[in-house]
Amino acid sequence: MERFDGNFTQQEPIPEAGIEAALSVLRHGRLHRYNTAAGEIAETALLEEEFAAYTGAKYCLAVASGGYAMGCALRAMGVRSGEPVLTNAFTLAPVPGAIAAVGARPVFVETTDNLTIDFGHLEEMARKTRATVLMLSHMRGHLADMEALIALCDRLGVRVIEDCAHTMGAAWNGVASGRFGKIACYSTQTYKHMNSGEGGFLTTDDPELAARAVLLSGSYMLYPRHRAAPIPEVFDRIRLDVPNVSGRMDNLRAAILRPQIALLDDRRQRWNALYRVMEQGLEGTNGLQLTQRPAAETYVASSFQFMLPNWEQARVRAFVAGCASRGVELKWFGAPDPVAFTSRYEHWRYADPQPLPQTDRVLAGLIDMRLPLTFSPEDAALIARIIRSEVLRVGQAEDLNVEAVPLAD
Ligand SMILES: *Cc1c(COP(=O)(O)O)cnc(C)c1O
Repeated sequence: MERFDGNFTQQEPIPEAGIEAALSVLRHGRLHRYNTAAGEIAETALLEEEFAAYTGAKYCLAVASGGYAMGCALRAMGVRSGEPVLTNAFTLAPVPGAIAAVGARPVFVETTDNLTIDFGHLEEMARKTRATVLMLSHMRGHLADMEALIALCDRLGVRVIEDCAHTMGAAWNGVASGRFGKIACYSTQTYKHMNSGEGGFLTTDDPELAARAVLLSGSYMLYPRHRAAPIPEVFDRIRLDVPNVSGRMDNLRAAILRPQIALLDDRRQRWNALYRVMEQGLEGTNGLQLTQRPAAETYVASSFQFMLPNWEQARVRAFVAGCASRGVELKWFGAPDPVAFTSRYEHWRYADPQPLPQTDRVLAGLIDMRLPLTFSPEDAALIARIIRSEVLRVGQAEDLNVEAVPLAD
């Protein structure tokens, strides 16, 4: 029996240019973004300028995490305590967490079979709750029809914040993900498309939202040092009205990140090459369903999803355990209890309970896998062979004696 012995959580090292730049920041000691020598431009300010140029956004703010960017976006939009905020039922815990952190109430929207937000349910929940903000999570990099979504939200009077944690470098009909909503939020946490350990960005074309975000992040009266922010006059009007909720990025992380922007497009190609090997290896496997990727979507396949439709819980559990015993670490969104990073909407008990039968059905059979760039195409082919053989073996097994086998992290 074939076995895989690679590490599903091992990312690539930081590029040498990033290591050199980080060492130089450590040597001069000016890590705080506003601590600059005469004539010096902070690494953080340069990073913001370069990331804005990469996405085409007018303004960019670098922050401490993707979760911070989302909370900051909600505050900048003036979301108040008790207000409903629409979001995907299929997303990661920091998304409803950011909504809860501003005292607002997450309102979950159903998931389609292709893992995107359900437009019919979005409209229904927007009307029912009168929510005016949608935190749209492009979970696992799956993009909804973005023109249709923005048209619908405009009609409903809903402003969109895009959670691009999994779509940095992705596009819909050639337009970069993050360029559709009023604000976009990105993460540079280790498992995302650029790695600074922790970190994030907020981008927008709206000068007032940008100025609010900069002030919120803790710019004191030093905002003129930003290079991807609006002119000082925009700040002057509001600088005493916006609270400081510190969440700045520092020059060390910025130094690590700057050389990675130029690598994003190459990383996308390498990720997608691994993805295609996985897809080809699993195509036509009885009992397994691949997700459909629309032609308009330019995705960045840093992870891989597939469905085991209508499998009973014990069978999915046996399958996941079987793959784990052969070195293939899978996550199951239908597991009754949250495991490591994987949880789902009913585990977030601070949110109002909501019946979401369609999402329940999708998540019950949804399997998810990291696809780190340290894997080769041969690794991906081997992983696909193992998954395929376990689907066929467990899919047909009569005895599912797996109670003692624990799920992998
Ligand atoms: C990682 C992630 C975030 C938040 O990013 P952090 O930088 O970890 O706070 C938001 N949304 C999704 C879908 C994520 O996977």
